[in-house]
Amino acid sequence: MRKSVVAIVGRPNVGKSTIFNRLVGERISIVEDIPGVTRDRIYAQAEWLTTTFSLIDTGGIEIGDEPLLVQMRHQAEIAIDEADVIIFLVNGREGITAADEEVAKLLYKSNKPIVLGVNKIDNPEMRENIYEYYSLGFGEPFPISGSHGLGLGDLLDEVVGHFPEKEEETKDEETIYFSLIGRPNVGKSSLVNAMLNEERVIVSEIEGTTRDAIDTHLHRMIRILL
Ligand code: GDP
Ligand code: MG
Repeated sequence: MRKSVVAIVGRPNVGKSTIFNRLVGERISIVEDIPGVTRDRIYAQAEWLTTTFSLIDTGGIEIGDEPLLVQMRHQAEIAIDEADVIIFLVNGREGITAADEEVAKLLYKSNKPIVLGVNKIDNPEMRENIYEYYSLGFGEPFPISGSHGLGLGDLLDEVVGHFPEKEEETKDEETIYFSLIGRPNVGKSSLVNAMLNEERVIVSEIEGTTRDAIDTHLHRMIRILL
């Protein structure tokens, strides 16, 4: 049976990849103090108590019509579509920004359960920052600190509580793993997208657009091999 899917969505630099890495227990997504470091969608398995689920990190939603921003937004929209539950992440040190409101608009339309995480609340004194985030209209804001690992239990209890009833462990022992390696700009991302028949990886003429290692399932490819 399909595992529940959780997507972490928010504008760039609020700490999505930091939370993602903490929840999956390994450093998979690149974290840096530069907006727009993560660009594609990154998937990993995460666990909370007895529940295993798929977690997606996204590049972020930023207002603007630069091709890369448009593509990052598009990747986030695909993640929103795929998700059973969405963690909407904001930066508790900066207040609500226009980009946060832009993300909120997309999320209102999604009709999915949204859990609002207010990140960078690194100490208890900062907890009073969270009240203004009620105005986003997603209910209780959960104060968390990705850097310090605070508040994640309460956030995850809420997330898991929204999972559809089901869950049976899926075994993927028969999956064959392979990597696609080549120098920048030779067409690796285009090839992956062509095999999957979807826009899984951002394709751009700019060298070095894909920064993270992208894992994806190629059911179609396996059928071709058989
Ligand atoms: P993303 O663009 O949303 O994925 O954000 P990143 O995870 O790359 O983090 C952006 C910056 O915020 C990095 O410098 C992180 O170290 C920093 N950061 C992430 N979480 C926290 C936190 O809980 N507290 C503080 N103070 N900084 C954080
Ligand atoms: Mg990131």
